[in-house]
Amino acid sequence: MLEKRHAEISGAGFGGLVAAIGLADRGWTVRVHERRNSLNAEGYGIAIQDNMVCIFNALGILNPILAGGIEIDYRDSVNANGKLILRLKSGLGRYRISRRHIISLLAQRAENVGVEILTGSNVTEANPKGEIFLANGKVHQADLIIAADGINSRIRDCLDLTYSQVFQKEGGTRMVIPSLPKDMPANPSDGIAMVEAWADNRRILYCPNSKSEIYAIFTCMADDSAGRTTPINVSSWKKSFPTLEPLIERFAKNAQWNESRWAQFKTIRLKRWSEGKIAILGDAAHAMPPYLGQGAGHAMMNGLGLSVALNETKDLKSALNIWENRERPLTEHTQKWTRLYGTTIYLPKLLKPLAINAERKIPWLASQYSRAARHIPTGCKKFNNIKLLS
Ligand SMILES: Cc1cc2nc3c(=O)[nH]c(=O)nc-3n(C[C@H](O)[C@H](O)[C@H](O)COP(=O)(O)OP(=O)(O)OC[C@H]3O[C@@H](n4cnc5c(N)ncnc54)[C@H](O)[C@@H]3O)c2cc1C
Repeated sequence: MLEKRHAEISGAGFGGLVAAIGLADRGWTVRVHERRNSLNAEGYGIAIQDNMVCIFNALGILNPILAGGIEIDYRDSVNANGKLILRLKSGLGRYRISRRHIISLLAQRAENVGVEILTGSNVTEANPKGEIFLANGKVHQADLIIAADGINSRIRDCLDLTYSQVFQKEGGTRMVIPSLPKDMPANPSDGIAMVEAWADNRRILYCPNSKSEIYAIFTCMADDSAGRTTPINVSSWKKSFPTLEPLIERFAKNAQWNESRWAQFKTIRLKRWSEGKIAILGDAAHAMPPYLGQGAGHAMMNGLGLSVALNETKDLKSALNIWENRERPLTEHTQKWTRLYGTTIYLPKLLKPLAINAERKIPWLASQYSRAARHIPTGCKKFNNIKLLS
């Protein structure tokens, strides 16, 4: 009998866990190292678009994933005084689900197929020969190491693979607070909206994240010292968004400030996505600003796509080439268009509504923004019935 191939993965985020499940489903033994002491850290909301729905369906966990989230009916863009600029019916991204809920179901699914997940296990380094080094002094050998250790990846940095790292002028603070009955529409037929409020160079995006939580991102420029303070500077934000005063106060009072901090958005591109026995994926390889809500989507697509490519040929180098050639063009398309969407924030006041409306007026533009959301990920089938499951 052939010996099973073995993978060591750094990072139990979206990319690491989906890659772990994909490989274990295809006969590999897999160990995942997560430096945090719990998988429950970091609560925030993720927009679930159709490509992610296909992945959860392929992994057999779509129903429990959707059961923990909420369906959004509209995406409203409003100005600083709360006046509606644009209302779009939620299309491909109509679910909001908490990161904690998704991660816990992915981890459960991984463990059911034999993946070993070690929390409190900090990876310090890895080399292309297939050795991974831990902070506790242990070294493990693998047929493949996956660096899915996020935007500040240590493995990526010790391999010198970064081609470019472009900072947006903007960044944001993500927060989650308990919701109140008044956050839901009194009449359910009015529908639930995700609201994106624009004021000069600041933005507040908020919506329910589940039946019991609201999620928000407060974004501002890197040189806006009052805007990037955490806990948020209530009087400064109230000045920018007078009609949102009660909500701003609630976020300031109830967010978990040990978890939330302002972070500058950036786009990372690598010279290549692998080196010897190491593959790099997710934010570690292709971080992007969050405007199109596809960072986690690409991390998961590329995690699953990697396991499929490794199943197509036993030759590691060929499999890694097939994987990168197949997945990289769409990933870079999303990186490019998400940065373009992000430029709206820099426009003068009068031009902003025009840019926001352009998405509705120019279908070609909307189709560029939604290309990843409409993509059927490698290893998945088209799935049309999400309405029936909600
Ligand atoms: C404001 C904002 C809003 C966003 N909204 C969305 C959205 O709606 N939809 C969406 O798809 N994406 C969204 N994203 C992007 C998304 O959060 C990321 O793209 C996604 O989390 C990347 O997944 P990942 O698995 O690559 O990395 P991560 O989710 O960052 O996971 C990496 C894991 O590796 C662990 N780790 C790090 N270093 C080590 C180490 N040395 N050893 C062991 N473990 C380690 C970390 O603790 C972490 O658990 C948003 C991002 C931001 C900033």
